[in-house]
Amino acid sequence: MLEGCMAEIVTEQKVRFGRGMRRETGEEIAALGRSRAVILSTPHQAEMAMDLAGDIGSASAGLFTGAAMHTPVDVTEAALTHAREVAADCLVAIGGGSTVGLGKAIALRTGLPQVAIPTTYAGSEATPILGQTEDGAKTTLTDPRVRPQTVLYDPELIATLPVAMTVTSALNAMAHAVEALYARDRDAETDALAMDGLRAFAQGLPAVVETPGDLDAREATQRGAWACGAVLGRVGMALHHKLCHTLGGMLNLPHAETHAVILPHATAYNQDAAADRLRPLAELLGGGRPADALWSFAGRLGAPRSLRELGMKEADLDRTAAAAAANPYWNPRPVEQDAIRALLARAWAGDPPAD
Ligand code: NAD
Repeated sequence: MLEGCMAEIVTEQKVRFGRGMRRETGEEIAALGRSRAVILSTPHQAEMAMDLAGDIGSASAGLFTGAAMHTPVDVTEAALTHAREVAADCLVAIGGGSTVGLGKAIALRTGLPQVAIPTTYAGSEATPILGQTEDGAKTTLTDPRVRPQTVLYDPELIATLPVAMTVTSALNAMAHAVEALYARDRDAETDALAMDGLRAFAQGLPAVVETPGDLDAREATQRGAWACGAVLGRVGMALHHKLCHTLGGMLNLPHAETHAVILPHATAYNQDAAADRLRPLAELLGGGRPADALWSFAGRLGAPRSLRELGMKEADLDRTAAAAAANPYWNPRPVEQDAIRALLARAWAGDPPAD
């Protein structure tokens, strides 16, 4: 069920959009037949989580504010202990992909139903995918049980996302849709979903950057985030996601910022092999080559341009290129280590995408 559905798609998830939607959390907990929620957040968003706990009153059984990037298993264990101590019968995750990831990790281990209240554009709430880290290694699984049953998008919550994070998080979401356009297992429905997501950001993101408190534009971009997340959950991802996972996993580079820097370069790598597939993207962003159109769009909005500014060392180029080429995901153009090294070198230096 999806209120105000854009593409004609069927989803088993209940998704609601609107100002003040967080105030419906108690009602949604009851609709799931539950009454004892543990509310999850990062330390940074503890106040938001406490406000929510106040709102839902007796349906709030506990609060765990230790969510962290890349879902470390020791954090999940600590949250699980808390959930058991308070006899929780459901989970409410309020935050970005890190907090939603913690909810998914607990659901995987307990079967507890989840309400997700996303405050970034990462899109994890729409997917059955969970990445977890243990002993410095990240593993990813796909399991329908981890996808939240209910998602509440409240533009008032995402309005507090700083502009720089707004831009990188949106480019993270757009990257899901760009790779969906040329996915091996794409179809007409996923194409429509991907274009819905891209259109929402192409139109809405400049307005959000101009006026971060514009709640109509914020809501439009949240609809885009859902579409981009949903399509990520339906088709396989390719070179762009492989590069970002490699850089994030090996060097702990920040997630959304890495996506923002890599996207024009990964698109340049694939744009001849997937020319027909990427044409609608370029048209949407004003024409020209798809990679150049993305580069200009991201640049106009002030996105970071180089891996160097994210903290990567030039000396890491060889080993990250080797790792990215070692077990490649399927990609429209064959993944060759020398070409990947050249791509990463441009991205590291902040050069425009290759011709
Ligand atoms: P995040 O959840 O790590 O948030 C980054 C920081 O911003 C945190 O401190 C957070 O508290 C803060 N923040 C979030 N929303 C805010 C708001 N509205 N106002 C003020 N501060 C706010 O960042 P993210 O990019 O959303 O998530 C990244 C994580 O999500 C990664 O671990 C990534 O692997 C995962 N992810 C998973 C999937 C999936 O399908 N499994 C998809 C996308 C991302």
